[in-house]
Amino acid sequence: MQAIVKEKRAPGLTVKSVPKPVPGPGEVLIAVRHAGVCGTDLHIADWDAWAQGRIKPPLVVGHEFAGEIQAIGDGVTELKVGQLVTAEGHIVCGHCLQCRTGNSHICRNTRIIGVDRDGAFAEYIVMPATNVLTLDGIPTEIGAIMDPMGNAFHAVLTAEIPGSTVFVVGCGPIGCFAVGIARAAGASRVLASDVNPKRLALAARMGAQVTINAAKDDVVKTVLAETAGEGADVVCEMSGVPSALHQAFASVSLGGRVQLLGIPTAQVPIDFANEIIFKGITIYGVIGRKMYKTWHLMRRFLTSGQFDPRPVITHKFPLTKIDDALAAIRSGDAGKVILEIA
Ligand SMILES: [Zn+2]
Ligand SMILES: [Zn+2]
Repeated sequence: MQAIVKEKRAPGLTVKSVPKPVPGPGEVLIAVRHAGVCGTDLHIADWDAWAQGRIKPPLVVGHEFAGEIQAIGDGVTELKVGQLVTAEGHIVCGHCLQCRTGNSHICRNTRIIGVDRDGAFAEYIVMPATNVLTLDGIPTEIGAIMDPMGNAFHAVLTAEIPGSTVFVVGCGPIGCFAVGIARAAGASRVLASDVNPKRLALAARMGAQVTINAAKDDVVKTVLAETAGEGADVVCEMSGVPSALHQAFASVSLGGRVQLLGIPTAQVPIDFANEIIFKGITIYGVIGRKMYKTWHLMRRFLTSGQFDPRPVITHKFPLTKIDDALAAIRSGDAGKVILEIA
């Protein structure tokens, strides 16, 4: 089968033929139809410091996908050949303390497809049946981005949203999803900031009533002015940029909540007393998707039509054009970039 492979400990990705995987007991073989490309794939392609410490080539990359079940391994009874599915890409151990207390998203033994084992930029992938979710009418092009969309659902739905003012900091694809989810979940007012006007336009299309250009406008002043001087009840920090992190803490209301999803590339100095303690705020770290509460809620938001992520999908490429797909992400202007595989 054709696949996109990290072949060597050096920059670049290769499109090549590799053996088709075979499902073992408890696993299913899925023919991939659509796959999402994201920043993680860019890190692996560019072979940055994180990739050098984590990736062991050769490896089929890609971790966001949806497709059709082609074959079933021994002992799998709950899934059928022909079903359209997506899957949670974090394969967890099921026996650590976190897994056994409903917190598999922070399993200490997590292995990620396309990072720690072969991934989804291929004609076929094998997944544990327990990780597979049926799409129930959701198109595979949307199913393919339920992994990053799930990060946004996790970030937004673990805060109290109905009637709240929500400020989304950073309008990459996950930030734009968060804007739409906050609206769909009943936020009274959604504000969004970024330095890129194209991304702000996308956030507005997803329902942000106020967009703030952080390169030109005074972000904190604008948020306070738009919230009667109170600040936002919930701030979702999706950028990981140090100046934006400080804006997030300065923009949240007294007693409010900051959901941290964006990953800073280095340590960020913080004034704990004034930015956190004296404001009485709650901070929540968002990693992965709650297994499987986030997935079930997301599937309901999508099948009911409550939330439509399609405006965020800006680019589609065939599998062989992975370099063009990565270039689109690198430009900083893209929303979600998708590979069409079958
Ligand atoms: Zn991703
Ligand atoms: Zn575990």
